[in-house]
Amino acid sequence: MSKRILIVDDAAFMRMMIKDILSKNGYEVVAEAADGAQAIELYKEHKPDLVTMDITMPEMDGITALKEIKKINGDAKVIMCSAMGQQAMVIDAIQAGAKDFIVKPFQADRVLEAISKSIG
Ligand SMILES: [Mg+2]
Repeated sequence: MSKRILIVDDAAFMRMMIKDILSKNGYEVVAEAADGAQAIELYKEHKPDLVTMDITMPEMDGITALKEIKKINGDAKVIMCSAMGQQAMVIDAIQAGAKDFIVKPFQADRVLEAISKSIG
């Protein structure tokens, strides 16, 4: 069975880019969220194998959402999607339990490497 992934990003084209990489490589994208609050609801609903989490989003940012998801499931696998200049936030996220991070603009190889290292 293919691994099930929740994509979280406020930018529709970013979600589309990740979805394209994942679906071409045997992963199933079960849902997409545009902010942290939506991400938490969809996480509860779908219990995905992995979450790709943007950092900067309206309503609730990705680090807050990561912490909430970790409260729901301490074993949740979350990979952060960061932009240039967000190193401090990436460190925060790793300390809060994120598995890895990928930097925008996304490179397919790096995305797939981070995911396979996190969920096999
Ligand atoms: Mg964003």
